[in-house]
Amino acid sequence: MTTLRVLKFGGSSVGASERLVRVTDLILREQAIGPVAVVVSAMGDTTDWLIEAAHAAERGDQRVAEAVVERVGQLALDVGLTALRELLRRPGRDEHAPAPELPTQVSELLVPLRQVLAGVGLLRQCSAQTLDLVLSFGERLSAGILAALLRVRGQAAVAVDAREWMVTDDRFGDALVDEQATRTRLAVLAATWGPAIAVHTGFLGATPDGRTTTLGRNGSDYTATLLAGALAASEVQIWTDVPGVMTGDPTILRDAYPIARMSYQEALELANFGARLFHPRTMVPLIEGRIVLRIRSTMDPEAEGTRIDEHGAPTAGPTCVTSLENLALLDIR
Ligand code: ASP
Ligand code: MG
Repeated sequence: MTTLRVLKFGGSSVGASERLVRVTDLILREQAIGPVAVVVSAMGDTTDWLIEAAHAAERGDQRVAEAVVERVGQLALDVGLTALRELLRRPGRDEHAPAPELPTQVSELLVPLRQVLAGVGLLRQCSAQTLDLVLSFGERLSAGILAALLRVRGQAAVAVDAREWMVTDDRFGDALVDEQATRTRLAVLAATWGPAIAVHTGFLGATPDGRTTTLGRNGSDYTATLLAGALAASEVQIWTDVPGVMTGDPTILRDAYPIARMSYQEALELANFGARLFHPRTMVPLIEGRIVLRIRSTMDPEAEGTRIDEHGAPTAGPTCVTSLENLALLDIR
């Protein structure tokens, strides 16, 4: 039996139409090998923009807040519609299958976003809890659009709002996951997806009583590894715009190249010592479930990228060099 693999696509992979089309290619390619689940981030800089909108509303500047909401919706629509047009031009597509109503899909999601921001404007206050709710719209937009595009390609797909299963505490902005409750919810939900590919919102969770939380900036990787752990997946693939974990910082080291294999321990060390890889807690579900993590590049999908597992590289030797800048070492006795 082939086990599930979880594919995660970050904001830059879904924030431009050619990339988004390629993401659908990659998902179908991987799905042909064995079952997959997908996790997506918000498109491009959407999360930053939503923060901007919330702050503008809090200042009482509804005009700016509205302009930013427009920008968020416009990006989603531009990227989604351009990708859709490209897919509709492809040969072999079922002429009679209805094209998705992306404009309706996007504008319907912006209604509650505008309501929340209007509330922020009235109260002139945006708590961490409210901000998490505002931010949730980014991932909800991208997951809905990607699932719709997969269906255009004849692939059954459902957008899954991770707030339905990711149970967290109420530390808004950086919530702690209740793994047991999360697993229980997922087990029930997963049974309802059938053969459809589930496209999950990264980054989002909810308290047991249903208030929206987020897992911290760049939290979608963590969503992917938690999902993989809970569904006993064999592998997580993080698709990004770099060719893998590099031997050094490519902006400093001109001849840096991607590392083929490394161990969980090495990856954790790197995360601790400055490599902007991923948050150390992202690794926990992988280590517990002995799940392979692969970092792969959307720009070069044939490349193997970096494989991180319990064994690491077969040969010993230094794996990678990282540096931390602007540091002071305090020696306290
Ligand atoms: N969209 C969120 C962020 O920008 C989560 C993520 O990208 O992983 O932080
Ligand atoms: Mg992001």
